Amino acid sequence: MSAGLILAIDQGTTNTKALLVDRAGSPIFRTSSALAIVTTPSGFVEQDPIALWRSVQAVSAAAVQHASSIGAGIEALAIANQRETAIAWSASTGEPLANGVSWQCGRSAAICERLASKSDLFRHRTGLPLASLVSAGKWAWLIENNPAIQKARDRSDLRLGTVDSWLISRLTGTGTHLTDLTNASRTGLMNLENLEWDPDLHQLFGIPVGALPALKVSAGQFGKCTNLPGLNNVPVLAAIGDSHAAMFGHGHFAAGAVKATYGTGSSLMALTPALLPDTPSLARTIAWSAVESTQFALEGNIPMAGSAVQWLGEFLNLNDPAAAIAELASSVGDAGGVYFVPAMLGLGAPHWDANARGSISGLCRHHKPAYLARAALDAVAYQVADVFFAMQSAAGMEFAALLADGGATRNSSLMQFQADILGCPVLRSRNEELSAIGAAWLAGIELEWWKSLPELESMGQNVDRFEPRMKEGEREALYDGWKHAIASVRSSEKGVQR
Ligand code: ADP
Repeated sequence: MSAGLILAIDQGTTNTKALLVDRAGSPIFRTSSALAIVTTPSGFVEQDPIALWRSVQAVSAAAVQHASSIGAGIEALAIANQRETAIAWSASTGEPLANGVSWQCGRSAAICERLASKSDLFRHRTGLPLASLVSAGKWAWLIENNPAIQKARDRSDLRLGTVDSWLISRLTGTGTHLTDLTNASRTGLMNLENLEWDPDLHQLFGIPVGALPALKVSAGQFGKCTNLPGLNNVPVLAAIGDSHAAMFGHGHFAAGAVKATYGTGSSLMALTPALLPDTPSLARTIAWSAVESTQFALEGNIPMAGSAVQWLGEFLNLNDPAAAIAELASSVGDAGGVYFVPAMLGLGAPHWDANARGSISGLCRHHKPAYLARAALDAVAYQVADVFFAMQSAAGMEFAALLADGGATRNSSLMQFQADILGCPVLRSRNEELSAIGAAWLAGIELEWWKSLPELESMGQNVDRFEPRMKEGEREALYDGWKHAIASVRSSEKGVQR
């Protein structure tokens, strides 16, 4: 066998991707397998755990075949995964007891409302807002509503886990029940101060402690593969939530580094020097826990970013909606005073207003759809700016640049406008698979391919740089207009964020 490779699996909501990463830290092969989202008549959003596993089997088989075709060996597996999605299975049979409750599913809103008097305690301990996004409420819903799960709980046969735990149990087939600290930090059951499961929170949600996985740092031994042809005995050396993996994959590891992923929604993460005290408008989390230390971060999620662009294209009945909006917007130099606040799912960070609804304002007689298209793209940048500025103020530091990744970053005008509105450079990653890369790098450190973070940093990042060009007065006037538009969609009743 010639050079070794790491197989990085990025298990996402709509597909599972696999990357083979070489010793230069670069991808040499990529494959993906589509995945269905199940929407029930009652509006619940689910995923079939067996379908998740099959998609991992499919991409792994293609990667194994490629590695063997070039005479290379796979030395380790690394997993990045969609977060919060809650799965329940039987310890004795290893079979799922229900469909996984997707992170997108709002079914636990009533449970969160029931616990609202504990929301300050919840936020202090976990760093998260008490919202239906967290896995705890989803597991609580399954336990309260599914007789098979109740039975398994009563027989001490219940296993609860996020997607990483589920995949590790399938991959290793040894009854292993593990999760990493980043995934655990998004369940709403882990105490950020001591990095352990919190018994008070378990009690609050009615979650049996014994059903949860053991906690591990993001890079280390998660067991050896027994269930994938061609990968027998290959160790799983990293597991990490996808957003955290993308942050790691940007290759900036010092406090003050901040990234935004521009996808369906947008998620920002900023590395902080330590765990910050309570920050009500932002989540506190672990960026990663490996390489002898735990790196803390601030996080802010925006429910509609790229999907607002898609939504407007569909609303205007355009073919290939997102691309058509981008094209339309490029025919005007600015939004002409039009603001589109895409609060169709409420407002996320830093505003947290579940009952806010979308608006279009500033329309004049001469406006054409192109202005509205431009306003939709601008809204992506404004929303990211709101979180960026809130993070700067919570961290008490000025960020030097914004690291950008995700599907919508291919729009260079959007990146330029983002740099203009922030007044600082935007560094767009040319690597489309940062989550998989980040996970692979963690496994590579464990393999001692790379000895330290500075060594990874020195491998160099492949980025396009956008410098701010807008005059300060113009920037302030535009951003003031946005703040006014946001203020006008706020509701008086905030509700539970879904
Ligand atoms: P996810 O991983 O969340 O599924 P992607 O990273 O693939 O999303 O990004 C897809 C999003 O990017 C879609 O919501 C789409 O509307 C948006 N998008 C695609 N092309 C463009 C474009 N040229 N300009 C702005 N947004 C775009």
